[in-house]
Amino acid sequence: MTHSPAHHSPTASRLALSELAPGAMQSEIRAMSVECERLGGINLAQGVCDTPVPEIVEAAAITAIKAGHNIYTRLDGITRLRNAIAAKQLRDYGLRYDPETEVLVASGATGGLHAAAMALLNPGDEVLLFEPFYGYHVSTLKSMRVKPVPVPLAAPEWMLDVDALRAAITPRTRAILVNTPANPSGKVFTRAELEAIADAAREHDLFVFTDEIYEYFVYDDAEHIAIATLEGMRERTIVMSGFSKTFSVTGWRLGYVTAAAQWMGALGYFHDLTYVCAPSALQHGAAAGLEQLPPQFYTKLASDHQSKRERMLSALRDAGMEPSVPAGAYYVLARAAHLPGETAAQKARALLAATGVAAVAGSAFFRPGRGEDLLRFCFAKTDRDLDEACARLRKL
Ligand code: PLP
Repeated sequence: MTHSPAHHSPTASRLALSELAPGAMQSEIRAMSVECERLGGINLAQGVCDTPVPEIVEAAAITAIKAGHNIYTRLDGITRLRNAIAAKQLRDYGLRYDPETEVLVASGATGGLHAAAMALLNPGDEVLLFEPFYGYHVSTLKSMRVKPVPVPLAAPEWMLDVDALRAAITPRTRAILVNTPANPSGKVFTRAELEAIADAAREHDLFVFTDEIYEYFVYDDAEHIAIATLEGMRERTIVMSGFSKTFSVTGWRLGYVTAAAQWMGALGYFHDLTYVCAPSALQHGAAAGLEQLPPQFYTKLASDHQSKRERMLSALRDAGMEPSVPAGAYYVLARAAHLPGETAAQKARALLAATGVAAVAGSAFFRPGRGEDLLRFCFAKTDRDLDEACARLRKL
């Protein structure tokens, strides 16, 4: 090596982080998880479901490994899984996608969004999303020099303000990102709200990116509506979803994108550059789940989580917090105004110290200065852990 950094003066060093890299890199969610483990607490911070993987899914993945499905797959995934995803979209929503050209098996919905943003957005473009937002959505866009523009939803119902949505549209707006059911608010967008978003998208010729990872987690009489089913929306909607939550396999990194063929070539190209393909043996597990799990599996998933939601809400109310009732997903945002601390991060630390229950600071889901009296609790936990966490919260 002739160009050792030692030849440069320290002030002129070119060894530096990129413009986009954050200086101190640790997400608050992860920081809380570390602290929780140190204290032997119960972690309601991270959205990792502790619930068991369906037998069929687990067995098919293990069989696939033993059968030698351990090499790269086609960049958009194995035929069997693409077929199963297309069949699922048709069965659940009446959406018809060609499994050869309109389905991408991705490394999680996360990998799907990354590929979609690379394929369809340019630096300087603006993307509207709804606040409270999921941090990865914002950070993924920023990592591509795309500007996320938060449109606030009004607590505690998180209703869409159509005027605010329309006011946020500029000539640089290229897309609207919708997450329904939503993390962290649990909001399930109504048909009327989705119609209003679709109207704006059609009028201003925008893409809609829709993260439907919690599609089966809906409670009471809430209904998950796929915005791609609304008139004129299929061609401009990039549907992202996955198996992490439905099959409790967050670590498998397996999700998918369905969209019109004209966009999918470029999506596949960028997904290939980062991931080459989604984990090959695990694709067989997900395919078996889609093919073989009966409709009751999905209704039970919702009813089990609804019962967990009830227990969580009741404990939070008893602890003097004001939870807003989520219609979907598996998080509760609760007001923790009475907990010590100026900021939500301090309140989360105080709660952890007092009860051994870890939650996420609400500020993680808002622009700076907002969400400081909110905490987010995940209730996708085993009944044992959830009941223990609830008992501890009640002692507050
Ligand atoms: N989208 C939302 C809204 C989420 O809350 C999460 C996980 O917490 C993900 C995507 C991650 O999905 P995946 O594991 O498929 O990448």
